[in-house]
Amino acid sequence: MPVRFFNTYTREIEDFVPIAPPLVRMYTCGPTVYNFAHIGNFRAYVFEDLLERHLEARGFKVHRVMNLTDVDDKTIRNSRAAGAPLEEFTRRFKEAFFEDLKRLRIKPAAEYPAATEPRYIAKMIEMIRELESLGIAYQAEDGSVYFRLSRFPDYGRLAHLNLDELRPTGRIRNDDYEKESIGDFALWKAWDEADGEVGWDSPWGRGRPGWHIECSAMATALLGPELDIHCGGVDNIFPHHEAEIAQSECCTGKKFVRYWLHCAHLMVQGQKMAKSVGNFYTLRDLTEKGWSGREIRYALISVNYRLPLNFTFEGLAAARSALVRIDEWAARLTELAGTGSRASAHALAAETGFQTALDDDLNIAGALGHLFDTIRESNRLMDQGQFTAGDARALLNWWNGVNGVLAFEPEAAAIPAEIEALLDKRALARKNKDWPASDRLRDELAAKGWEIKDTKEGQRFVRRPEGAQAAQI
Ligand code: AMP
Ligand code: ZN
Repeated sequence: MPVRFFNTYTREIEDFVPIAPPLVRMYTCGPTVYNFAHIGNFRAYVFEDLLERHLEARGFKVHRVMNLTDVDDKTIRNSRAAGAPLEEFTRRFKEAFFEDLKRLRIKPAAEYPAATEPRYIAKMIEMIRELESLGIAYQAEDGSVYFRLSRFPDYGRLAHLNLDELRPTGRIRNDDYEKESIGDFALWKAWDEADGEVGWDSPWGRGRPGWHIECSAMATALLGPELDIHCGGVDNIFPHHEAEIAQSECCTGKKFVRYWLHCAHLMVQGQKMAKSVGNFYTLRDLTEKGWSGREIRYALISVNYRLPLNFTFEGLAAARSALVRIDEWAARLTELAGTGSRASAHALAAETGFQTALDDDLNIAGALGHLFDTIRESNRLMDQGQFTAGDARALLNWWNGVNGVLAFEPEAAAIPAEIEALLDKRALARKNKDWPASDRLRDELAAKGWEIKDTKEGQRFVRRPEGAQAAQI
């Protein structure tokens, strides 16, 4: 079965066929670096990570570009409020963003262009000049340059808006606007006092780019005129992605993007998690409460990307339990794998259900269901002594492939010497059938955050995730 995705442009599930396989040219709208990203933003980035990893598991070579919006209305407003130069102000949030990506195990993109880099400002100006020469861009009396919407009849197709039904409201200088206020959008914004030190010289005087042209310029500069995949959250569809299509296609004459993929929002009590609503958590907020990056990753990835995901602490606690279950199973397999040389007899390791679920528009719920079925079945066989070391090795091999997509492996935590000594003591107590000592040592280990289970293969232990008490919140 080929890989298939729901394409926002056609509103249909389509077979995925990139322009020059195995290469996949992928562009993902990155953060606006005026604050720490919240976990709603990270839902979008975790979804894009799953997409990239699955495509790679299917043999594609993904070249992903994620931009950093480091100049726009919000970055300027907040840097001025903070009394810091724009560059210094955004640098801090760029660095924080990269730390957060690492904590969530999101694979680094091939490139992270920032809008203020001179080569991209030059590209934006070049594109606007091209649009102007075609009569599509015009400078208005306020000094700003606008895109003449009447020259691009396809505007609204991605968002499936009927422009005839919407009343044009003239020119729009803000980067973000509501569907009701459709109008010629700004490509280049003439400098005004609120911009302070921020500005670049251009054929239209000093000013700065609009948000939409930033993405068109960075995407086409790095990926060429035709992209295979463009992603973002659903809130990016209109006006941002709609404007990206209009600008890019008018400049290049080519179809800008083959497949548009958008993830639904992370919600809090029925509302989109958003800075403007104030109902958000940053990654830092949650790690301070004791949740690990991989637990948050699990919670964000585990619901199919086109469904809204409700953020709750119960959801995080469920992610924690699911990961403990996976850890225990993998530890059990690892232990068994080292106990003999018999070949594999079970077919579990040949299962492809995980991958085929993801082929179907990234059906992660189905894929995880398959993983937990496999865990249950192999645990049952191990309980019954019907699983050989060879079976365990083969299944671990399978798990390595699956985990290459999920990135759920435990945090690399060395076992402290003190814990090792307690584990050895307890193993000895059990050998001597000194059950009271064994129980006492188990309690002592539990108090230090190490859970012990006794199995036929010996004692197994998992480190209770950091701050497990937080699950009670
Ligand atoms: P921004 O920094 O606001 O430009 O957003 C960066 C990315 O996060 C975009 O792809 C947005 O669509 C996405 N995004 C923002 N809020 C949410 C949310 N609550 N749930 C999912 N994605 C979001
Ligand atoms: Zn963008």
